[in-house]
Amino acid sequence: MVVLAGLNLGAVTALAVHGVTSAGPGTAGLLTWAGRTAGLFAETLVVAQVLLAARLPTLERSVGQDTLMRWHRSLGQLTLAVVLVHPLLLAAGYGGARVGGFFVQSWTLSTTYLSAAGGFLLIVTAAGLSVRTARRRLRYETWYAVHLTTYAAIFLAFGHQLSAGHDLSGSPIIAAWWKGQLVVAAGCLILFRVGLPLFRSLRHQLRVISVVAESPDVVSVHIGGRRLDALACDGGQFFVWRFLHPRGWWEAHPYSLSAAPSGDRLRITVRMVGDGTRQLAQLRPGTRIIAEGPYGVFTDARRTTRKVLLIGAGIGITPIRALLADLPLDVDVTLLHRVSDPAEAVLVEEIRALIEERGATARLIAGPRGDVHDPDRPLSPGHLRSLVPDVARRDVYLCGPPGFCWSTADALARLEVPADRIHHESFAM
Ligand SMILES: Cc1cc2nc3c(=O)[nH]c(=O)nc-3n(C[C@H](O)[C@H](O)[C@H](O)COP(=O)(O)OP(=O)(O)OC[C@H]3O[C@@H](n4cnc5c(N)ncnc54)[C@H](O)[C@@H]3O)c2cc1C
Repeated sequence: MVVLAGLNLGAVTALAVHGVTSAGPGTAGLLTWAGRTAGLFAETLVVAQVLLAARLPTLERSVGQDTLMRWHRSLGQLTLAVVLVHPLLLAAGYGGARVGGFFVQSWTLSTTYLSAAGGFLLIVTAAGLSVRTARRRLRYETWYAVHLTTYAAIFLAFGHQLSAGHDLSGSPIIAAWWKGQLVVAAGCLILFRVGLPLFRSLRHQLRVISVVAESPDVVSVHIGGRRLDALACDGGQFFVWRFLHPRGWWEAHPYSLSAAPSGDRLRITVRMVGDGTRQLAQLRPGTRIIAEGPYGVFTDARRTTRKVLLIGAGIGITPIRALLADLPLDVDVTLLHRVSDPAEAVLVEEIRALIEERGATARLIAGPRGDVHDPDRPLSPGHLRSLVPDVARRDVYLCGPPGFCWSTADALARLEVPADRIHHESFAM
């Protein structure tokens, strides 16, 4: 994957360098060349973005969703910048860098390449809505729907590169390679985000067995199916679940397994925080499910030592519970369960049973969050050291809301836990 990306980038750079020779004279020529080059890089970056979001199993298994989505977000900013400057530079170049010329050329370009202009607007809208402040004000589903339109935008914008693209139209080999990269990206997306989940769901016949209330606002959904061992999922992983019931089949939400998978059963445990999660309480036995996954690297496979510290905050205890059952019995485990209020803690009895079975140690840490700068706040470096004096020699798995994950990871780094031994799953994408 990295080699292919490198080769692609090399090829685009070669095209760009070759383009200099045919650029027109003066500043206008330079601007036109820069605009064309930006167009080439924009499409290459967009293809990389699609591949990062395509849930390629090899990528997913090696770095995990969290990291892939972080790369997708960071690369998104660069992609947006390059997509933005492409038409601006071209308009400036074609207009001979004169102000009046720039506006006339902008209009001419947008009306000549209508589909590309449409694609451009869709990409800019989706990227604008992904900016943190805008994103916070939107429902997840609205943001996601707009984000999906960028796939249409890519195809709208792509056509004009082959028909009008100065650097591509000259050679059938280059045009074939250009088409090829888009076909590969679209193929991966359809195969891994649509085909594979559908195939697996049909093969395993996933269905709701029962819904059990764990507390007033938390439910466990027990899921049955055929040959679930073939899904090869581990404790600590998650799926993106789509429950096929009339009031919410169009929504898919990520939930971690809350018990290590056993034979023909899976279980998720969910805190009801909004529309999607609240619907789970009303699921009827027999409801069909389409599940995308298993995803995530929050598993025993990442462990490097025989000592483990598990930390779950709030509903973040769910993958910790599944992971605890998956860890070999000779692993020395300490578990910290962080909650604001003891009444909020779920799965307590089963965690206690698993802890007793392996002679391990567990602590429930209740109380308000505390100021991040307060050295005496719960799970501050000092507090962690007093609870787990050998923390620096352990693999640490932590799961919870993003703020909790970042502040605890920071405390662990201060206690000199090496970065490759801090494994976290944040309940936000
Ligand atoms: C990898 C992962 C594993 C998770 N595992 C669990 C779990 O085991 N138990 C549990 O209770 N919660 C879990 N969550 C959180 C859970 O996915 C959200 O609480 C749920 O999607 C909220 O949906 P809603 O419609 O009820 O709430 P809303 O009010 O619509 O949203 C509440 C919050 O959840 C986010 N959100 C909403 N829908 C999605 C979605 N489809 N994908 C990602 N984020 C979304 C919103 O941006 C918002 O921040 C997990 C999240 C992730 C990313």
